[in-house]
Amino acid sequence: MWCYETLHPDIKLGIKGKSLYKKKTAHQNCQISKTKDFGNVLFLDGAIQTTEADEYIYHEMLVHPLLLTHPKPENVLIIGGGDGGVLREIFKHPVKEAIMVEIDRTVIDLSKKYLPKISKGSFRDNRLGLIIDDGAKYIKETPKKFDIVIIDSPDPVGPANALFSNQFYQGVSKVLKPNGVMIRQTGSVFLQSEVLKNNYRRIKKIFPQTFIQLVSIPTYIGGFFSFIIAAKKINFLKAKKSKIKKKYSKFNLKTKYYNPDIQFASLQLPNNLKELVK
Ligand code: SAM
Repeated sequence: MWCYETLHPDIKLGIKGKSLYKKKTAHQNCQISKTKDFGNVLFLDGAIQTTEADEYIYHEMLVHPLLLTHPKPENVLIIGGGDGGVLREIFKHPVKEAIMVEIDRTVIDLSKKYLPKISKGSFRDNRLGLIIDDGAKYIKETPKKFDIVIIDSPDPVGPANALFSNQFYQGVSKVLKPNGVMIRQTGSVFLQSEVLKNNYRRIKKIFPQTFIQLVSIPTYIGGFFSFIIAAKKINFLKAKKSKIKKKYSKFNLKTKYYNPDIQFASLQLPNNLKELVK
C-alpha cells in the first residue's frame, strides 16, 4: 500500500507503507503510517509532519542554533510541537521552563503511542508547562515573557494559518524579552517560495535581526527547507562561534545533525535568496 503526501496541489510524494491510524479530530485530519524507509510517519491534513527516520535534522536545527547563541535562555515558548521532538532537544539545555501551547491533544497522544522515539519521555520533564490551546490566542493573552519562541507549526493550512499573520508576529515580539529570539519553519525554498518571501517580509518589518536558515530534510520535498530566525538584538551572522562551541561541549550535547559549523553554514544563502533578503 502507498501513503501519499498531498500538501502540494500538483505534486504527490508516495511512500510505501500501511496506515496505523486515521481520524479527524476537532482541528485536523491525523494519520500515522508505518513505512519501510522512514519508520512511522505523522501526517496532518495530508502533509508530512515528521518521520522517525529524519526528524532529528529538523528538531536539532530548530532548537540548538537559538539555545546556543542566546546568552542565557531560561524561558522557552513552543507553539505547536505536538510530536515532542522539539521538547527532547530543548531539555538537553539547562532551561528553567518550556511552555508548550499545542492546539490538538490527539497529536500528543498519537505521538506518544506511535512515535515514542521522537518525544523520548520529554512530555514527563518537570520543566514542561503544557497548554492545550490555540497558539495565536495564547500569544495575544499571555502576560509572560520569554527568551526564546519556537513556532513548530505545520504549513499555513487549517489551524496553523493564524500562526503566519502579521498580528501573530507582533504578538511574538511582545512576549519576547529585549534580547529574545524566535524561529519558525517557512517551508520548501523551491515549492513554497511565496510562504518564505511573505513571512520574511512580515517578520523583517518587526525584528531588526532576521535571517534565513537552510537545511535539507528528505521528507520535506522541494530542495532546501527554510527556517526564519528573528531576533530583537542578536546578529546570528556575527555570533561568536568559539563561544557556541564552548557551550556545545560544556552541555555535552549529543546531536546527530547539528554542530556549530553547520549552524553558520546553514545561514549562507544562494543568489536568489540574497536578492530576497536585500
Ligand atoms: N515539523 C512540522 C512542520 O514543520 O510542519 C510540524 C510538526 S508539529 C506536529 C505541528 C503541530 O502544530 C501539530 O501538533 C498541530 O496540532 C499544531 N498546531 C497547528 N496549529 C496550531 C495552533 N494554531 N496553535 C497551536 N498548535 C497548533
